[in-house]
Amino acid sequence: MENRGILTVVSGFAGSGKGTLMKELIRNYDCYALSVSATSRAPRPGEEEGVSYFYKTREEFERMIEKGELLEYAEYVGNYYGTPRSFVDEKLSEGKDVILEIEIQGAMQIKKQYPEALLLFITPPSAAELKERLLRRGTETEDVIRKRMQRAAEEAEGIDQYDYIVVNDDVAECTELLHGIIRAAHFTPRHQAEFVEKIREELQGNR
Ligand code: 5GP
Repeated sequence: MENRGILTVVSGFAGSGKGTLMKELIRNYDCYALSVSATSRAPRPGEEEGVSYFYKTREEFERMIEKGELLEYAEYVGNYYGTPRSFVDEKLSEGKDVILEIEIQGAMQIKKQYPEALLLFITPPSAAELKERLLRRGTETEDVIRKRMQRAAEEAEGIDQYDYIVVNDDVAECTELLHGIIRAAHFTPRHQAEFVEKIREELQGNR
């Protein structure tokens, strides 16, 4: 059986609850490694350097781009976000399923570089519920919430590019569903290439 991990991209509208879901996945199962992104946005209350994000100035971020240190990056509502390359490579070769919680432009860059990556899209049950969750979070100004809702409408156009869409109604159920989907991805022929080759060779020898 293949022992390289699956690169899993998780996208979803801001307020879809994907952050909570990722924390639950990591807490419940030790087969996952969650990539910590670099960003030029300011920390929100309660966020921690190196846990939520690596916080950078725009200049520092641009230097990371120039040095090729990012696997992908994008600008989202006025700030840079990007995935440091080294962590992802290291964890995949250790056999961990690496989760990138990133927006859609980054997801498309990953899909191009790693056609075997698994792309999941998380959404709340309705637009009204999304707005409600953003308001409840209480960390953003009205203007930012409006921009994020507009952005969600744009992002919804890209859902077809993903492999699976998961509606986040109940955190526990949704966590199990995500785990099931990622487990199942290990058993596609594409992720079992070594095994497929081995059994083909054995069968050839038995003709
Ligand atoms: P937030 O500011 O709410 O933490 O994140 C805003 C958006 O940026 C979210 O959709 C989040 O998934 C995305 N994001 C976080 N890290 C990265 C990253 O490394 N690359 C890309 N492309 N998007 C990211």
